[in-house]
Amino acid sequence: MPPESLRCKECRTEYPLDARYVCERCFGPLEVAYAPHTSSDPEELRRKIQAGPTSLWRYADFLPTAPPAHGAVPTGWTPLVRADRLADELGLREVWIKNEAANPTHSFKDRVVSVALARARELGYTTVACASTGNLANAVAAHAAAAGLESYVFVPVDLEEQKVVATGVYGTNLIAVRGNYDDVNRLCTEVSADRDWAFVNINMRPYYSEGSKTLAFETAEQLAFQLPDRVVCPIASGSLFTRIARGFEEWLEAGLIQGSLPRFNGAQAEGCSPVASAFAAGHEICRPVKPDTIAKSLAIGNPADGPYALALARRTGGSIDAVGDEEIREGIRLLARTTGIFTETAGGVTVAVLASLARRGEIDPDERVVAYITGDGLKTLDAARGTFEVTEIDPTVEAFELATEPVAAVA
Ligand SMILES: *Cc1c(COP(=O)(O)O)cnc(C)c1O
Ligand SMILES: [Zn+2]
Repeated sequence: MPPESLRCKECRTEYPLDARYVCERCFGPLEVAYAPHTSSDPEELRRKIQAGPTSLWRYADFLPTAPPAHGAVPTGWTPLVRADRLADELGLREVWIKNEAANPTHSFKDRVVSVALARARELGYTTVACASTGNLANAVAAHAAAAGLESYVFVPVDLEEQKVVATGVYGTNLIAVRGNYDDVNRLCTEVSADRDWAFVNINMRPYYSEGSKTLAFETAEQLAFQLPDRVVCPIASGSLFTRIARGFEEWLEAGLIQGSLPRFNGAQAEGCSPVASAFAAGHEICRPVKPDTIAKSLAIGNPADGPYALALARRTGGSIDAVGDEEIREGIRLLARTTGIFTETAGGVTVAVLASLARRGEIDPDERVVAYITGDGLKTLDAARGTFEVTEIDPTVEAFELATEPVAAVA
């Protein structure tokens, strides 16, 4: 299924497959358009995929670039874990966790960067860059290092220390901008206009977003080429949320899976919930907000794919919900103590929304639900700090027994 062109999502105008992201006629976003998958036999395609590498490049037939010959960080093929203890606690039957913390820089951003950098290298770029809420910074810095590319990574100045360290260590040019993500993004859009750089989430955005589709392909393959009934997924710009749907649609069209799209439930933090607010108000576009939440990786106040995320939730019978900072901490703890998976704040948002949907009775107990855990808890330690107790003792057996004996016996 070779890529044919970049096509405007709104007016369908076509452009060559180079570094551009916005339609010159209507300012709509551009996306990669493929030749139809008509001739291939699904059985043959399935066998080809199953014989492929254990990385996202097993889905190269559905991506806009060939796998890079060298210098790529192996990405994808992360575990899809059946979470029975979590399901029990929520009164559900079948819950699966797609654990994206298992990627090389511990978030799903390794996927989008893999594809954007592969295309940047094909187009001959030697410098790559990004505007990041944190995880993208880690991924761009690491993948650029492996490929031998120069990189510039722009982040908001108040980013979590773990994400700053896990970016700078790769030898990138790390630029901390005194402002929030939306300021960083605006600055990068201006910088990109007069530099010959590949900004993975600006002028390379059509390729970047294609990387997220591989999460849908993997989910379906790991479920033995079946679809879930419902997915729960965090929303920052809305790219991941909408691209998972696109991935399922492409596989339905190719005959690799049968049925119809799952219900799509989006998850946001109350401190930055422009898409959830628009959903609740019945609006088709989002009103930009100033973020104030512990879920910094989701803190995009002006989400580029907001309208498409709204339309997707509505047409699949899903919803877009928001949860507060305390619920996010509880979500992190709930996932950790029922599955052994420690997620960052974005995963806390997702689990808290899943729990809230279950408690409200919105999920039929017999549904098969997949929740996307997009990043690692070691990157947002503050969110989990102080949510449990530590018993400190002197190094003697007496002290240990005294500290762990029931209070009544001690007295
Ligand atoms: C970037 C990110 C998301 C979602 O990003 P979109 O802009 O909506 O594609 C979700 N979770 C984590 C941990 C992220 O870093
Ligand atoms: Zn257009």
